[in-house]
Amino acid sequence: MDSLFGKSLPELTELAAGLGQKPYRARQLYDALYKQRVASMDEITTFPAALREALAAEYTLGLPELVQTAVSVDGTERYLVRTGDGETVETVWMPDGDGVENTDEAEEAADNRADQKLAAHSKTLSSRPERSGVEGPASTRSVKNVDKRNWGALAEAGYRRATICVSSQVGCAVNCQFCLTAKLGIKRDLTPGEIAGQVAAVLNRHGVKMGKDRINLVFMGMGEPFLNYDNFMKAVMILVEGIGIPPSRMTVSTSGIEPAIRRFALEPVRPKLALSLNASNDTVREQIMPITRKWNIAKLLDAVRTIPMTKRDWVTFEYVLLGGVNDQPHHAHEVLALLKGMHAKVNLIVWNPGPGIDYTQPAPADVEVFQQTLIQNGLPTYIRRPRGRDIYAACGQLKRTTESIPAAELVQLTA
Ligand code: SAH
Ligand code: SF4
Repeated sequence: MDSLFGKSLPELTELAAGLGQKPYRARQLYDALYKQRVASMDEITTFPAALREALAAEYTLGLPELVQTAVSVDGTERYLVRTGDGETVETVWMPDGDGVENTDEAEEAADNRADQKLAAHSKTLSSRPERSGVEGPASTRSVKNVDKRNWGALAEAGYRRATICVSSQVGCAVNCQFCLTAKLGIKRDLTPGEIAGQVAAVLNRHGVKMGKDRINLVFMGMGEPFLNYDNFMKAVMILVEGIGIPPSRMTVSTSGIEPAIRRFALEPVRPKLALSLNASNDTVREQIMPITRKWNIAKLLDAVRTIPMTKRDWVTFEYVLLGGVNDQPHHAHEVLALLKGMHAKVNLIVWNPGPGIDYTQPAPADVEVFQQTLIQNGLPTYIRRPRGRDIYAACGQLKRTTESIPAAELVQLTA
């Protein structure tokens, strides 16, 4: 059966017509799916019961299910998310931001402007006010396991902020030598509903109120979003216009699919971009990311330069530090030369080890020297705090490694 979750407004309009319904039913359905985030078709209360039945006869809701979670000592939660055909991907919830301490005041102000713009935009999109007389979003009433504790320290101050790390494919075809997801190979692309649905399912679990709580998204889970470009961008539109997360609060990370970066540059609505640079020259990059043979660093940077940017925008370059491979001072100087003149910032990621991968972590002193070399030469550089390392939720560790986690830390969410 076809799923509802993931369909755009034009698609729902067609669906409504197929059921002999007027177009306003499509808008009601769109709002129920994405604004209310219903967890079952029974909750679409703007529809008469007969219409709900007709809908259920032909469609499933199609919201992916959180089947298992591992909770880290730092509040990070990793979920195993099951799709309709029984595949599983992983999604991560990180309270209090994404582990990169780079939210300055300007960014905060831009964030607030994004909120206001989006609020105005959704007003014009949705003429229908939320149902009155009902306490809280529909989702929090119907979903078990709503856990409001895991919001981190800021929740105490009445300010809730979290980042969700989202997967784009089951496995990955890119074969980066340091990455655990690469070991899975590629199984299939996720659909728009499965990508946006990971977010909705996690928002429901935590009883998130859009417009009040601050949610950031990073498309840095399993898979290469730019090798599933159309589905990824459709999911972005649902997340922006339906669910209500401004694109300025989303970051998509790519290993560097040059033609897709050029397409991305032309999009009217676009998350921020992070490029996984990971090496300071093509020789090293080819070793650790064989895809460099197809599009080398120069080609990727040329493509990145086509992205329209305001003074406040920047491109993030991720750089996984591998001990002795790419973490020496001369590498830092090469990075400076590469990124000269670009409005860029660098996120250094200390490599997370995983079974069967033959690299070593960088020495802490080398990490420090690398960061300072970039900063002192005017390139803003942050070190990504490893989150949820104890539960294999940190970067690149999204493999089905549940056997490595003590049973006591795993919680089964569904039978
Ligand atoms: N496929 C996309 C997005 C997912 S990977 C990409 O490669 O950009 C997200 C980030 O995790 C990338 O920057 C990647 O280089 C990094 N990464 C992968 N494996 C890692 C590991 N074992 N330790 C630290 N970072 C890793
Ligand atoms: Fe795929 Fe990204 Fe892992 Fe490379 S780092 S194998 S592109 S998920």
